[in-house]
Amino acid sequence: MATLELQGLSKRYPDGTLALEGLDLAVGEGELLVLVGPSGCGKSTLLRLVAGLEVPTAGRIRIGGRDVTGLPPQARDVAMVFQNYALYPHLSVAGNLEFPLRMRRVPRRERRRRVAEVAALLGLEALLGRRPAELSGGQRQRVAMGRALVRRPALLLLDEPLSNLDARLRVQLRAELAALQRRMGVTTVHVTHDQAEAMTMGHRVAVLRAGRLEQLGPPEALYREPATAFVAAFLGSPGMNLLPGRLHREGRGWALEVAGARWSGEEGPPPAPEGAVAVGVRPEHLHLARGGPGSPAGLTLTVAAVERLGHEILLHALAPGEAPAQAWGEAVRGAWPPTVALRLPARERTPAPGDRVAVRPAGPLHLFDPLGGRRLAMVDATV
Ligand code: ADP
Repeated sequence: MATLELQGLSKRYPDGTLALEGLDLAVGEGELLVLVGPSGCGKSTLLRLVAGLEVPTAGRIRIGGRDVTGLPPQARDVAMVFQNYALYPHLSVAGNLEFPLRMRRVPRRERRRRVAEVAALLGLEALLGRRPAELSGGQRQRVAMGRALVRRPALLLLDEPLSNLDARLRVQLRAELAALQRRMGVTTVHVTHDQAEAMTMGHRVAVLRAGRLEQLGPPEALYREPATAFVAAFLGSPGMNLLPGRLHREGRGWALEVAGARWSGEEGPPPAPEGAVAVGVRPEHLHLARGGPGSPAGLTLTVAAVERLGHEILLHALAPGEAPAQAWGEAVRGAWPPTVALRLPARERTPAPGDRVAVRPAGPLHLFDPLGGRRLAMVDATV
């Protein structure tokens, strides 16, 4: 195991696509870093650069303090598990696990020992004699992990290794994978587009957007205090709601107007420059106002869909107005969800699609710069 440092890493493909731009990132020894972002943001490019399968346009890559930027893949001591983990179909599980050790001419006794060790770690002992065709998807994925780990690489790179599995298995394996990584202590970069994997697996999460690092930190910190509207809307299921608002002075304090509703803040100057803001609020921090539509401070919305999930209810309402399209910059517009989601307790009486409801905040509001998307302030609105 080792550290990984990326310094000013850029990649422009021959056709001109700038896939990564000046990325700085350091992964600690034994750390599991989850790299997350929408399709096309540069995740695979980053992994391929670290593995040595692509050459960077600029920047340096260091593994365990050693500059590997110009080294071929086999000289980097990196193991990679892909989405389409191809096992050798004609070899048994034991044969597949042993293969990387054979390639490296590890003596037979040592090979046996390491295969047994990795099989025990992954719960594959009973399957060692089987061929890949005789395994379930989850078991095959475990063998692929075992094959990567048996070499004891300095660095483990996982490229969406769970995305071919069904939802239930994915949840089970992401917990297993995180536990395995902790036990092995191998420095790992796990790439995914799935925000739930990012939230549950990583020590830290790096959110990538259009080839740039948007935010880096522990998952809870990113969820609670997203640095940008993009991170706010990306993390969470559903993500943070973004509403068009205006901030202005009022009396000795300030107020926030959101689509006809007025939410007053504390005394003192406004927490951000007056004018247009994108107001972010988590689905769990919105409640139905008692008074119904037209009640003071209630944001009046039309219910679009109601999802009863057993333990909770997700209510989706149509976003108020068309304002974002004109007033917001691309960084915010791109993140904008076209509905407003509320997370309600399961026992709550819920309105039906088509009903008009009044909604009020019951938790922190995040104010984002409507052009650049940076978070300007986090406030409590008293309504
Ligand atoms: P992700 O893994 O996040 O989906 P990728 O790293 O695969 O993103 O791609 C980042 C960007 O680079 C995308 O715009 C993609 O189309 C482009 N890209 C990826 N590979 C190549 C390539 N070999 N040649 C040209 N463009 C590429």
